[in-house]
Amino acid sequence: MKSKSTEDVYEFVRRVARHQGWELNPDDAFLKDVVEGLKTNYNRHGYFLCPCRDGEGDRAADRDIICPCVYNVPDQNEYGHCFCALFLSREFAKRGGVPEPIPERRPE
Ligand code: SF4
Repeated sequence: MKSKSTEDVYEFVRRVARHQGWELNPDDAFLKDVVEGLKTNYNRHGYFLCPCRDGEGDRAADRDIICPCVYNVPDQNEYGHCFCALFLSREFAKRGGVPEPIPERRPE
């Protein structure tokens, strides 16, 4: 497995946001932390395990929390951003919404 650089991961999140019509968190320092978390997880597990959750380290078991996770869209719809506040909905970003901690939607 080829390891990913920080720039690789920036490219990945920018591409996802562009394709999906989402916005990235506008706080550069915050964004960098999430990107670094994604990079660490990719280089450890071989997939983009969500950096704000504890996964199993098994791709099948973690399937629903591989970025962009399946909870992202419902969380954007309800709160304006995903659990990690990496991706913001366009509307939330446009009105200058500030992400806050949100409940975990993933079933236990
Ligand atoms: S919560 Fe956000 S950063 Fe985490 S996997 Fe879902 S979309 Fe990616």
